[in-house]
Amino acid sequence: RRLVIAVDGPAAAGKGTLARRLAQALDLPYLDTGLLYRATGRRMIDAGLDPQHAPAETFAASVGLEDLSRTDLRVPEVDRAASLVAAQPAVRRVLVDVQRRFAGEHGAVLDGRDIGTVIFPDATVKLFITASARTRAERRWEQLASDPHAPDRAEQIARVEQEIVARDAADSSRSTAPLCMADDAVRIETDTLDADEVLAEALRIVAR
Ligand code: C5P
Repeated sequence: RRLVIAVDGPAAAGKGTLARRLAQALDLPYLDTGLLYRATGRRMIDAGLDPQHAPAETFAASVGLEDLSRTDLRVPEVDRAASLVAAQPAVRRVLVDVQRRFAGEHGAVLDGRDIGTVIFPDATVKLFITASARTRAERRWEQLASDPHAPDRAEQIARVEQEIVARDAADSSRSTAPLCMADDAVRIETDTLDADEVLAEALRIVAR
C-alpha cells in the first residue's frame, strides 16, 4: 500500500536531513515543501514586488518542480519572503495540489509545516522533529559559516537564533495551517541526537 511519510517541525530542526535520508532508505521520492514557498517568494522578489502585500497566488501557481533546484532559495531575504507568502490562504490553496500529486500512486516522504495536519491528514507515518532554538541556530550557523573560528561566533549564532525564533512565531501564529503537531504524530527531540541517531529512531517508528 502507498507509504506517505510526513516530516513536520520548526525551522532548522533537521527535517530536511532526516526526510532525505528516510526517502533514500525506503526508496521513496522526497519533496522539501518549503522550497515551494521559497520559490514563490523568490519570484516575487525578482519581480520587484513586496511578498507581504502583492497577491502571491499567481506566482505560486507558476512554480514548478524545476524551480526547486534554484541555488538562490536559501538566503535570508527568501527565508522571510517564504514565511510571508506562506501566510496567504490563496497561496496555500494553490500549492496543496502540487504536494498531493507528488506522492502519486507510490508514496513519498514530504517535509514541511503542515504535511501531517493539512496536506496528508491520513499519512502512514507522521513525525514531528524539534530541537531547542539554540541548537537549531547553532546547526544553521555551522551550515552557513565561512569561518568556524570567527571571533564573533556567539553574536552570529544569537542573530541566527533571533531570526529562527521570529520565523517560528510567524509560522505558528498565522491563521491558515499554523505550524503545530498533529495529534497522531510522533515527536523526535534532536538536541542530543546526531543525524544517524535521528534516522535510526525514525526507521524504528516507521517499522512499528
Ligand atoms: O522549511 P523551510 O524553512 O524551507 O520553509 C520556508 C517557509 O515556508 C517556512 O518558514 C514556512 O513559513 C513555509 N512553509 C509552510 N508550510 C510548509 C513548508 C514551508 O508554511 N509545508
